[in-house]
Formats: sequence, C-alpha cells, structure tokens
Amino acid sequence: MEKIRIGPFDYTYREEKDLSNEEGEELYGEIRYKENIISMLEGLPPPRRAHTLMHEIVHGMLSNMAREDLNSDEPFVDALALNVVQFMRDNPDITMKILSDINTQ
Ligand SMILES: [Zn+2]
Repeated sequence: MEKIRIGPFDYTYREEKDLSNEEGEELYGEIRYKENIISMLEGLPPPRRAHTLMHEIVHGMLSNMAREDLNSDEPFVDALALNVVQFMRDNPDITMKILSDINTQ
C-alpha cells in the first residue's frame, strides 16, 4: 500500500469504488486524520485525480499547522491545490530541480 508522508504522519493511500460523505454526496477524495488514510474515488481521470490528491494533501498540511480556520475553507484549500498542481504541470523542469535540490545533502 502506498504511503503519503505529510509532516510527521504517514497516510495510507487507497482508491475506493464508492466514496461519499455523511450526507450521501459523492466525494472525489477524503482524508481521515484519525486513521491516517487518504481515499480517492476509483476511476477519476488522471488530471482530476492529481488535483483531488493535492487537495487532500493541503488539508493534511493545514491540519499539521493547526490552521482549522483555513482548513475548513474549502474554496481556499481547492484554489491552493489547483495552483500547486498547475505550477508543477507548467514548470516540470523547475519542479524536478526543486526535488533534486532538496534531496542533495
Ligand atoms: Zn476539502
């Protein structure tokens, strides 16, 4: 099972056929802090999956920062996730340079 490390927490990544909230509305993704699980709806087109996964990762980061004021602001979380994913898509060389630089001791 794939792991996603967000700060001190290792989340288990999984894809599910059905994903919904307590009101029965379909979700594309969900983060469960108590269980350290990030679930994604199975079969999402890859660009949608990337954005949704980054959305859940932003939730995890804001939770680590104890910024519930921002973490409960879904438009903020979504806009930040979209901008990060779009930056990575538009600047693959810089994204790889950042990864390479932070992995250099
Ligand atoms: Zn959200």
